[in-house]
Amino acid sequence: MTPAASGSGRATRTPRVAIVGGGVSGIGIAAKLKLAGIDLFDLYEQADDLGGTWRANSYPGLEVDVPARYYQYRFAPNPDWSRLFCSGREILAYLERVAREFGVYDHASLRTRVTEAEWTGEEWLARTDDGREKAYDFILAGTGLLVYPRIPELRGLETFAGAWFHSAEWDHSVALEGKRIGVIGSGATGVQAVKGLADVAGHLELYQRTPHWIWPFINFNYGPQTKWLYRHLPWLTPLAYHFWRILFEGSLGRTVTRPGVMRFLMTAMTRLHLLRIRDPELRRRFTPPPEIEPFCKRIIMATGFYELFERRPNVELVDVGIDRIEPRGIVTADGALHELDVIALATGFHAHEYLRPMELIGPGGMRLSELWDGQEPFAYRSVALPGFPNILMMIGPHSPYGSNSLMSISETQQDFALKLIEMWRRREFHAIAPTHEATDRFNAARRRAYGGTTWASGCHGYYIGKDGLPAIWPWPPKTLRRALANLVPAHWEEVQPSPATAPAGTSLDGARGVRSRADSDGGERLLLVHPAYVTRCAWAPTLPYLKRSFEVLAPTLAGHIGGPRLPVGSRAGVASLVDGLERELDAAGWETSHVAGCSYGGLLALELARRGRARSVFAIAPGGDFRRLGTVAAGRIALVLAVNRAAGRLLVAHTERLCASALGRRLLFRQISAHPSRLDPAQAAHLFRAAAECPAYLDILWASLHDEPPALDRVNCPVLLAWPARDRLLPFGLYGRPLRRAFPAATLCRLKGVGHFAMLDDPRRVAALVCDFAARAEDSRRAAAVTRSSNLRAAGNTLGRWCALEA
Ligand code: NAP
Repeated sequence: MTPAASGSGRATRTPRVAIVGGGVSGIGIAAKLKLAGIDLFDLYEQADDLGGTWRANSYPGLEVDVPARYYQYRFAPNPDWSRLFCSGREILAYLERVAREFGVYDHASLRTRVTEAEWTGEEWLARTDDGREKAYDFILAGTGLLVYPRIPELRGLETFAGAWFHSAEWDHSVALEGKRIGVIGSGATGVQAVKGLADVAGHLELYQRTPHWIWPFINFNYGPQTKWLYRHLPWLTPLAYHFWRILFEGSLGRTVTRPGVMRFLMTAMTRLHLLRIRDPELRRRFTPPPEIEPFCKRIIMATGFYELFERRPNVELVDVGIDRIEPRGIVTADGALHELDVIALATGFHAHEYLRPMELIGPGGMRLSELWDGQEPFAYRSVALPGFPNILMMIGPHSPYGSNSLMSISETQQDFALKLIEMWRRREFHAIAPTHEATDRFNAARRRAYGGTTWASGCHGYYIGKDGLPAIWPWPPKTLRRALANLVPAHWEEVQPSPATAPAGTSLDGARGVRSRADSDGGERLLLVHPAYVTRCAWAPTLPYLKRSFEVLAPTLAGHIGGPRLPVGSRAGVASLVDGLERELDAAGWETSHVAGCSYGGLLALELARRGRARSVFAIAPGGDFRRLGTVAAGRIALVLAVNRAAGRLLVAHTERLCASALGRRLLFRQISAHPSRLDPAQAAHLFRAAAECPAYLDILWASLHDEPPALDRVNCPVLLAWPARDRLLPFGLYGRPLRRAFPAATLCRLKGVGHFAMLDDPRRVAALVCDFAARAEDSRRAAAVTRSSNLRAAGNTLGRWCALEA
C-alpha cells in the first residue's frame, strides 16, 4: 500500500480519538492534539485522577531517576524545578499543571476503564466498564509499563498484625514516625524508600534477596538565581534538555547497548562506588553476584544509600532469606524473628501487561490476546500492531525504557501518532496497520541485536521477556527517533473496510493454508513439538499465524525448562517422550495430526510419524542423534561452544560442575557469546539460560546424542526436513546430510537467513512453510494415484519461493 499516494489536496477531516491512560503519555498526547487543533477526543483513566505512575507511586523518598530538565515535555518547559532529580510529588504537580493548562481535564473520564475496543470495519468501538460504547477513528494507548504491583507469595503475609502495603499503593494513613519498618526488595524503589524512611523510622530493615548495582549520581538543588535564569532566558530550557539527553544517551544509552570504552568506564565507576562502604563484610553483602553484571538490570541512581547502613544505627540490612511472616513480624531462614510495625513491599511490578485489561478485536475477529498468545508482547517499532489498524501505543512493547527518560521516548512515539493522524486528516488513508512481514523483520532484527547488550548477560528481571530474551529496544535511543521519523509506506498496509473480506483461518498471506477448521478428519490439526532443554515457548511466536489455519496442541515435554526432568542418557529417551506425546494426542481425541518439531522435537516428530500418528512431519534441524555421529557431533558442539577445541572439550566435560557455580555460568556464557559468528545471540541467550537453569544441560545433550534414531525408512507420511542455513548448533553438513542419505524420500529445504531455532528468527515465514507443507500433504493424500515422493517434490517446488531446495 502507499498511504502517501492518494488524497492530497482534498479537504481535511477531524478524527475522533480515544486516549487510554492518563499518565505521562496520555497527558502528553492529549496536549499535543489540542496544539494540533484536534478537540474531538476523550481520555479514559482508571484511577481517581490523572498522573499515572506518578500518582500511584507516592512512597517516601520517591524521586525521578532522570534529570528533571530532561524529564519534561518539550512543549511545556518548567523553569522552576527544585532539584536535578526532583521528587515524585514535584513531577506529579508538573503533570497536573500541564493537564490543567492544556485543558486535558475537560476531556477526561476518570475512574473509567476501557475494557474492549472492536473494529467494525470502519471505526473502533470502545467499550468502558461503566457500560458505555463510543466510536473512534484512532485509539492511542498510553497504558503504562509498571502498573500492576507484584505481591510476592510470602507465607503468612495476611496474618501480619501491623500494616503492610505495596510501594505503589502506599497507605499514608499509617503513621511511620518511630516505627519498626521492614522494606522488602532492594531495587530502585527499595533503595529510594530506605533513603526516604531512614530519618523517620525508629528502626528500619532492608530485606535484600539479591544486591543490585548502584550508580553514584549526585543530586543537587537549583537555587533562586538558576530558576530566575531559566524563567528569563527561555532558550536555556531546550539547551539543558538536549544537554542531559546527549549526556544520558551517550553514557547510559551507549553503555547498555554497545560494548566499548563507555561501557568499560561506566562499569568501572559502578564497581568503584561499592568502595564507599568501608566495612569489607558489609561491602561483600552489597556486592551483586558475578552473573549480574552492572547495567544488566536497570541501574539504580543514588548516592548516600550505602552510607546509611554504616552511619545510622537504626538502619539494618537483612540478607538472610525470608522464611515466613507471622503476626509480630518477619521470620528469616535462620529462624530469627524480626519484630515490625510496618512492612513495605518494594517487590516490583508485573511488567509487560501492555494494554491490559483492554482486549482489542481487530478486522476478521482477530484478538490481541491471540496475537500475543503465550509469547512476549511484540509490536512494529514499539508503536503499532500488525492487523490492528489505527491504534498506536506509547511506551509499548520493547520501547527503549532502559535507563532513559520515558518522557522523551513517549514524546517521540506521540509525535509519530500525530503524524499518522495528520495523514488521516488529509485523507491519505482510512485505516492502516503495519504489515506482518515488516513487524516480523523488525522483531527478528531486534532479537539478533541483543547479543551486544548488557541485558543479555544472564540476569533476570522485568527487562527479560517470556521468551527468555530482553524485551527492550536493543539499539541506542536515537534509533527510535530515526525509526519513527517517517512512516515507511512499504511497511504499512491499508486495511479493507469490510471485516468479512478476510476471514481468519483461510489462508496465510498467499501461502496455501489448510482450508478450514471443520472440513477434514485431522488435516486441520497441528501438534507442535518444542526443542528439548531450551524453552517450551520456542514455537510461541508462530502461534498467531498457525492458529489461523490449525487447531494447535503444543505440550510441555520433559526436559523443557520449567518442566519435568528429561529421562537422561537412556536409549529409551526418545521412546518415552513420544509415549508422552501420544498420550497428549489421545487426551485431545486426535487420532492423527500434522506435526512440526524443531531440533530434538523434530526427532520426536519423526518417531511419532513412525508410529503412524502423523499426517505430515515438518522437522526443523532434527537433532539429538545417531550413535555413529555421536562422537563427531559432540566434538563439533564443543567447538561451537568454546574458543578452541581443548577449551570446548573441557567445557563440555565440566559443564555440570561449571554451571553449579555462578562464575562457571558466566564463563560458559562468555564462551558462547564471544563467538557470534558461530552461534547467533538469540541462540546464545537461550543456551545460557538453559545452562543456568538446568545445570546438567550439556550432559543431557551429550547423552541424547546416543539415543536410538527413529527408523526413518518406516515413516509413512510426507516429511519435510527444513535445515536452517545458519544453523551452528546442528550444522547441516554434520547432521542434515547423513539424515538425508538415510531418508531420501524426505524433501529437504534449506532455510535462508535463520539459525537453529528458525521459528524464533522468522516466525511468520516458518508458519507459512508449515501451513503450505501441510496443505500439500493433504493434497497428496487425496491424489493417491501419484507416488508419494513425486508429491513431496511438488510440495518442495512451491516451497522454493521461501527457501533453497536441495535435490
Ligand atoms: P524491581 O526492580 O523489580 O525490584 C524488586 C525487588 O524486590 C528486587 O530486589 C527483588 O529481588 C525483590 N523481591 C521480589 N520478590 C521478592 C521476594 N519474594 N522476597 C524478597 N525480595 C523480593 O522493582 P522496583 O524497585 O519497584 O523498580 C521497578 C522499576 O521501576 C525500576 O527498574 C525503574 O525502572 C522503575 N522505578 C523508577 C523510579 C524513578 O525514579 N523513575 C523509581 C523507582 C522505580 P530480586 O532482585 O532477587 O528478584
